[in-house]
Amino acid sequence: MKININNIPDEGLHLRFGDRSGWRLGDHLPDGTEETARFRDLDVRCLVRKVREVVFISGKLGSVLTMTCDRCLEEGEMFVEAEFSYTLRPLTGLPGEAETELTAEDLDEGYYEGDLIDLTPLVREQLLLQIPMKFLCRPECRGLCPRCGANLNTAPCSCGEGKIDERLAVLRNFRGRE
Ligand SMILES: [Zn+2]
Ligand SMILES: [Zn+2]
Repeated sequence: MKININNIPDEGLHLRFGDRSGWRLGDHLPDGTEETARFRDLDVRCLVRKVREVVFISGKLGSVLTMTCDRCLEEGEMFVEAEFSYTLRPLTGLPGEAETELTAEDLDEGYYEGDLIDLTPLVREQLLLQIPMKFLCRPECRGLCPRCGANLNTAPCSCGEGKIDERLAVLRNFRGRE
C-alpha cells in the first residue's frame, strides 16, 4: 500500500484497496500470552491530497474483526469501521528533531521520507484502535456457568435452577429490610 507522492495530481488521488487475506494484530500480555484480534475483508477508501510538500490523507475503513468473547470464550465477529485523517510532512533535517516534535496531541501528524508513502502503518494503527477493551460475541451473550463451566448460549445447565433461587433470596432480603 505505497503511494508515490509524484503521482498525486492537484485534484487529489482517490484510492480504494482491500485485503481479504486478513491481519492478525495483538498486544503481548504480561503473562506471555498474546491477545490477538483478527481482521479480514479490509476495505479502505481514501483521498490523498498534496499541498506543496504536505500530504493529507483522509478516508474510511471497514473490516470484520474476529476475537474471543470475554464471557463465553467462543470466537465472535464484529464489523468495525473508522474514519481517519493524517497530515504527513516531508522528513527533512535531522530525524531526531522530527521525532521530538511529535507529541501525543498530534497522533494524526506524521512524516514521510523520500517519494514513497506507505499506508500500511496508518491502516494498522486504525485497526488497533478498533480493538475493544471488552469483546462480546453478542450483546446478550449469557457466558459460562460459574459452577459447571457450560456455555449457557448453547443450553441451560442444571445449575440454572440454583441461580433462580439466588435471585429469590435477594428479593427476600430486600423485602425483609422494609
Ligand atoms: Zn459470548
Ligand atoms: Zn452450570
